[in-house]
Amino acid sequence: MPSTSTRILPLPVLLLSALTASAENLTAHQHGQAELQLAMAGQSVELMAMSPAHNLLGFEHEPRTKAEHEAVEAALAWLTETPLINTLSGSCGIQTSEVHYAYAGDDGHDAHHGEHEHQEHEHHNSGEISHNDIEVFQTLNCPDLASGSQLVTSLGEQFPAIEHLDIEWAGPKGQGALRLEPGITEFSLKP
Ligand SMILES: [Zn+2]
Repeated sequence: MPSTSTRILPLPVLLLSALTASAENLTAHQHGQAELQLAMAGQSVELMAMSPAHNLLGFEHEPRTKAEHEAVEAALAWLTETPLINTLSGSCGIQTSEVHYAYAGDDGHDAHHGEHEHQEHEHHNSGEISHNDIEVFQTLNCPDLASGSQLVTSLGEQFPAIEHLDIEWAGPKGQGALRLEPGITEFSLKP
C-alpha cells in the first residue's frame, strides 16, 4: 500500500466505480429497498450502500425534534462504525468509512444537497415530504475473505424497514447479484 498524503484509494475502487456507474440507471428511490455494492480483491472489500433515509431513520425531512436528532446520530454512528458486510468469522475491520446524509450535522459527515433537489420539486405537492438518501462508503480489511464464499450483513437486522436488500458484487470469483429478503443475513458469492 503506497503512503500518500491524499486519501488512499485501493485498486478495487476502480471496479466499484464501474459497478456504481452501471447501477445508477437502475437506482430508484423506493422505500423498503436498499442497495449494497461490493468490490473484493485479496483481503480488501470496497463497499457502497445506498438507502432511502426512511429505511434507516423512519423519516426523510430535516430532523427537528430531539428524538429525530438522536435517531440521526444513532443511525449515522452505527453506519460509520459497523462493517456493513462481514465474513462468517467476523474478521472484517474498517479501514475507511464515510456516510453521506443531507442533514448531517457538523460532526464530520458530508452534506449533499444538490442531487435531491429535483426529487423535491417532483414531490412538491406531497406536503412536507421530500425524499432523501443515505449513502455509506467503506473499505474493509477481511483476513479470511478468500477462504469462503459466504458473507453476512447485519443491515437488515439493524434496520428492519429494509424489506429488500439488493446486492451486487465483483471479485476474484466473478460477479453476481442477489436480493436478500427480510430475516436473511447470510449470502453466498456464486457467479
Ligand atoms: Zn423517500
